[in-house]
Amino acid sequence: VLFVRDLSVTYRARGGWFGGGSVLKAVDNVSFELRRGRTLGLVGESGSGKSTTGKAVLGLIPFAGEVAIDGVPIAGLSTREMRPVRRKAQMIFQDPYASLDPRMSVAAAIAEPLAIHGIGTAAERRELAAELLRRVGLSPDHASRYPHEFSGGQRQRICIARALALEPRLIVADESVAALDVSVRARVLDLMLELQETMGLAYLFISHDMAVIERMCHDVAVMRAGRIVEAGSRRAVFEAPTDPYTRELMAAVP
Ligand code: ATP
Ligand code: MG
Repeated sequence: VLFVRDLSVTYRARGGWFGGGSVLKAVDNVSFELRRGRTLGLVGESGSGKSTTGKAVLGLIPFAGEVAIDGVPIAGLSTREMRPVRRKAQMIFQDPYASLDPRMSVAAAIAEPLAIHGIGTAAERRELAAELLRRVGLSPDHASRYPHEFSGGQRQRICIARALALEPRLIVADESVAALDVSVRARVLDLMLELQETMGLAYLFISHDMAVIERMCHDVAVMRAGRIVEAGSRRAVFEAPTDPYTRELMAAVP
């Protein structure tokens, strides 16, 4: 579903007070593959380049190297050429409070990606929104309500429903449960696992919570300073980490 080879992302810091901008290689020659129905966990300390990697593989920021989504290389595609590819890959973010438009009803928010891609009639989109609400464990009666009427966990379910609207193959989840309390988190993770089972979704799962990573991921890659310093099956990385930083991470697991 996702093929990444020698991915690099460079940020150019502008000017500063005395001019002369600096260059930061936030992602440095990263390679990995993600197959249908699998989850790759991306871990690493703050600033190691996880979110940047997640955005780059969806073509949301400029990058160097190769990225292919469902066999389609995305480097150099125009926005229009990206459209059919974008349908197959969605992102869920950390903050369920910030990622929904407060002025948009739940049904409108879930159906928005369909409207953007010109799929279905308004009535069909409403119907699908109700169906997706049911899928993520919310009542379809909630469709006409607004985001402020929901808890954080419910909002994250709405974000997931929205991500599912275009029937993606791949979801990049960037600290998607970090803002939720423990029991709500567990239920959202269960939902993600169930959706993976029924829809064959692949997840690129970014988290600094090793317990969550252990629960969700088949494979794990550890990033430090823009590079992948260790990668392998969950078992290999958890039971016999070879990189000193990974060992430190594991030591912090209760
Ligand atoms: P965290 O765990 O804190 O979310 P991360 O691993 O997701 O960290 P990134 O957000 O990918 O880290 O950032 C990697 C590096 O790139 C950091 O040094 C960060 O300061 C820098 N960076 C991120 N976004 C930008 C940007 N838009 N412009 C310039 N530098 C950026
Ligand atoms: Mg991040």
